[in-house]
Amino acid sequence: MINSEEDRHLKLAGEADCAPEPLPTLRHSTAHLMAQAVTQIFPEVKVAIGPAIEDGFYYDFAKPAPFTPEDLERIEAGMRELAKQDLAFVREEMARDKAIRFFEERGEPFKVEILRSIDAPTVSLYRQGDFVDLCRGPHVASTGAIRFFKLLSSSGAYWRGSEKNPMLQRIYGTAWLTKEDLDKYLWRLEEAKKRDHRKLGRELDLFEFHDISPGAPFWLPGGMVLVRELEKYARASLDARGYQEISTPMLVNKKLWEKSGHWQLYQANMFKVEVEVEEETFCLKPMNCPESTYVYGRTVRSYRDLPIRYSEMGRCHRNERSGTLTGLIRVRQFTQDDAHIYCRPDQVQSEITDLLDLVREWYGTFGLRPSYRLATRPPDKLGTDQQWDQAEDGLHEAMRANNLTYDLDKGGGAFYGPKIDIDVEDTLGRQWQLATIQVDLTMLPERMQCEYIDSDGQPKRPVVIHRAIFGSYERFIAILTEHFAGAFPTWLAPVQARVLPVSEKFAEYGRAVHARLRAAGIRAHLDDRNEKLGYRIREAQVHKVPYTLVVGEREAQHETASVRPHGSEKSAVLPVTEFLEGLAAEIGSRSATLTVGRSG
Ligand SMILES: [Zn+2]
Ligand SMILES: [Zn+2]
Repeated sequence: MINSEEDRHLKLAGEADCAPEPLPTLRHSTAHLMAQAVTQIFPEVKVAIGPAIEDGFYYDFAKPAPFTPEDLERIEAGMRELAKQDLAFVREEMARDKAIRFFEERGEPFKVEILRSIDAPTVSLYRQGDFVDLCRGPHVASTGAIRFFKLLSSSGAYWRGSEKNPMLQRIYGTAWLTKEDLDKYLWRLEEAKKRDHRKLGRELDLFEFHDISPGAPFWLPGGMVLVRELEKYARASLDARGYQEISTPMLVNKKLWEKSGHWQLYQANMFKVEVEVEEETFCLKPMNCPESTYVYGRTVRSYRDLPIRYSEMGRCHRNERSGTLTGLIRVRQFTQDDAHIYCRPDQVQSEITDLLDLVREWYGTFGLRPSYRLATRPPDKLGTDQQWDQAEDGLHEAMRANNLTYDLDKGGGAFYGPKIDIDVEDTLGRQWQLATIQVDLTMLPERMQCEYIDSDGQPKRPVVIHRAIFGSYERFIAILTEHFAGAFPTWLAPVQARVLPVSEKFAEYGRAVHARLRAAGIRAHLDDRNEKLGYRIREAQVHKVPYTLVVGEREAQHETASVRPHGSEKSAVLPVTEFLEGLAAEIGSRSATLTVGRSG
């Protein structure tokens, strides 16, 4: 697939450029500079396309062997040399037929293929020094403007993204307007590698994957603590907001999916199970929506019963291709923190207002900064304009009621209703799409025939609001692991405190402290191994245990412990009672930071 940035190479001359942003322009120019260096160093290479992408650029080349890290160094050095020459980027327009002959003579078959697919008399080329590319532009004035860049990696990529086409060699790079920006980005890359949840998941014993079930995590005891704490958090919050929790079957007769439309539209993503004796086909549910309507529809509902808020920790399966599976981010089995709210049209606004409040509360607990996008009616839609007006106005009003700024995604709604998509920004400034709040005016209500008896005695269709806030527990835990770099707040931490007797002599006091912590409901470990104290302290730090309690003679005499919070160089000696009180307060408030023993 050609994405919109790649279109830069495909657009026609004479078209007005859309307002060029400085960064994409710089990055796209850097891609040209790289292609120039590559063709100088490897004259046999054919050039394909090279767009700007988020945080950088790439260029694809036809070359029999992959680029090596040494190649990238040579290419980067070549780029710096060409940048020093300060070659101007010169635009020229050329008749399409002439351009085809031009690139044929230069032996560039990909450019010829692109040109043949363009239906226009004239195209534009950009030239810097001896390098010429078919390109819409715009570009920076000259190669001298390209100063802060780095080549990052190379990989195989199919021409135009199709497996039927030849495999090309792609080089990725990044470019920035200032040295600080480049340094910051490279630091972020390094930091992201260290924080990779797949790596930390192994090191901290949170979860693992096995080939016997690709894309389905085996939760280890440590990771299961995270799941349980998040569930506890979610349940307490939803209970207080009038939700009722339900649980619906995972294995469901295909008749349901025919009714809901998934069988026709989503079959390729569903796991099918043939039940031989009964000769029936069942599917593992890919989502919880249609089943929740069975719970709703089990009795006649009156307008006075609404809203009904059903939450479900729904375990779903989707048949993702094994090549696309990525840690906990892209899985085949996941558990959604799902909910379906059945309400009257006049209740949509207040329900959305409550949901946005809930979103802010939940993300705030983790220090994740949300941003909002409101997607409105697409050209092809179900339902009446009046229904859409009411729903969209409700969403706008709910945003205003929460004092939220948001982007408008005009026409980006689902065909059955408008929605709000919510991204969060983590500590590294990375964006993750998490929550979605979808207003369903017609699809589920119509297809699954949901009803309520309105005040006029007539049956009406309720509006269904679909929403998930964590998204899935798997993905959310991946994001939290990277966000906190594995050093979870105490309320989430798999092990909250480790007790280290300085030597065998104080093992008994250590056991007593450990027992007190456990009795107080703290997830505590006793490390009384026959290892040097320094080694055991380092181990506790490596495992990112929030609190390390060292106990020796003085501590045993005074019923204290030497408390060291994770990431701190200093310890504070505290009475065990005081430590427990402080810890209970910290955990109870779900503090994002460690608070005990900081001042002492
Ligand atoms: Zn270009
Ligand atoms: Zn749903």
